[in-house]
Amino acid sequence: MTTSYVQRVYQDVAARNPDEGEFLQAVKEVLTSIEPALEDNPQFERHAILERMVEPDRMIKFRIAWVDDQGTTQVNRGYRVEFNNAIGPYKGGLRFHSSVTASILKFLGFEQTFKNALTGLWMGGGKGGSDFDTHGKSEGEVMRFCQAFMTELYRHIGPNTDIPAGDIGVGGREVGYMYGQYKRIMNEFTGVLTGKGLAFGGSLGRTEATGYGLLYYTDEVLKTVMNDSLEGKKVTISGSGNVSIYAAEKTLELGGRVHVMSDSSGYIYDPEGIDLDLIKEIKLARRERISAYTDTRKKAEFSANKKVWERPCDIALPCATQNELDEADAKQLIAGGVKLVAEGANMPSTPQAIEAFRTQGVIFAPGKASNAGGVAVSGLEMTQDSMRLAWTFEETDARLQGIMKQIVADSLAASNTYGLGHDLLMGANLAGFVKVAHAMVDQGVF
Ligand code: NDP
Repeated sequence: MTTSYVQRVYQDVAARNPDEGEFLQAVKEVLTSIEPALEDNPQFERHAILERMVEPDRMIKFRIAWVDDQGTTQVNRGYRVEFNNAIGPYKGGLRFHSSVTASILKFLGFEQTFKNALTGLWMGGGKGGSDFDTHGKSEGEVMRFCQAFMTELYRHIGPNTDIPAGDIGVGGREVGYMYGQYKRIMNEFTGVLTGKGLAFGGSLGRTEATGYGLLYYTDEVLKTVMNDSLEGKKVTISGSGNVSIYAAEKTLELGGRVHVMSDSSGYIYDPEGIDLDLIKEIKLARRERISAYTDTRKKAEFSANKKVWERPCDIALPCATQNELDEADAKQLIAGGVKLVAEGANMPSTPQAIEAFRTQGVIFAPGKASNAGGVAVSGLEMTQDSMRLAWTFEETDARLQGIMKQIVADSLAASNTYGLGHDLLMGANLAGFVKVAHAMVDQGVF
């Protein structure tokens, strides 16, 4: 941070939000990247664009009371952060996880604003969720929680106002329960959530979109920046949730090899290559721990409480959660010969890890660009809902591929414009920021 405007804004945000580490981390990354655009556009400072961008339009915080299987009333905390709607209605996922706090949702909502801008679709940024953990809960408990959550949230959202989707702990099952409750309360069938079931307004390809999109992006970077391909590459993927599973599926389709995957209990290594059908059965159908993999695959090993980054690879795709890859992990990956890191999760690499990659010449792709495929297909789901028409998988997937290629091209173009070479991190931040900033100037002070 070299300019006084950026320094002043960051100091002010840090003083106002002293306990929000994740949010400050995300703000700092963006502010340090966009200084060249501020120099080119002095009107941004005059219009207090940065001061307005770092403050959400509104934050809703509410109580969720629900009854568990024992008949006991439980209380959780719910949030919706409506961050910025300069280029479209608020759009972003809902996360159900015990670690959810205002800081985490603010960082996610802030990032989402720039990510959504990069997709080229008309979507603003938002995020929400609860400290409710779906692990160990019965079907009935998950349904009653989702219904209670939507009983408050419904009054703040709408198909032209704010359209939530899934995230950690919120998949098709939870979206279905929440959609049912919204429909019951509002007596209307509208595209107010994305990630819905195919029978009631969902889009083919949405389930796969973040993971597939990550690989379309990675493939494009390999081709255009590194003059290479995925063929034969050893790819390490963390997590075994929605993003990880479909990232692994597309990696295999494109000729890469996957030997490790993880969950919050540790990781498995399969010397013969991951059996993805087995992972899907364990994590999606049976909802068990990943260690169960070794019950069937006898040559595979499970390492409890260890991280996947200790295994050498050509390409690393962190797809689990924020700050899961720190400086020590980055150094291990670099020593193991990693050439490219593309984030499937949101902010999975710490600033020190990013610095280590960049100083060692490892190509680094930030999540707000490389994982934008999920929200892109959510945007396409909104389009289909508005038309009351469903596209084929092939049509949606072709659009997703086009969007991911365009994100790479726009990031490289922005980076080149400011003489930064092939800097995917700076390029993504610059391209997303400039678009939202101009829209805010054009729409007057709000
Ligand atoms: P899921 O809930 O489907 O999967 C999350 C995975 O990460 C699980 O394997 C989980 O393990 C693991 N995990 C969660 N918390 C931790 C932790 N603290 N330490 C280690 N592992 C952990 O979530 P998604 O796949 O949907 O989301 C993953 C990431 O991708 C998140 O950062 C999310 O914000 C981001 N993202 C998701 C999009 C989507 O479309 N779903 C779109 C864009 C970004 P366990 O099973 O043990 O809980």
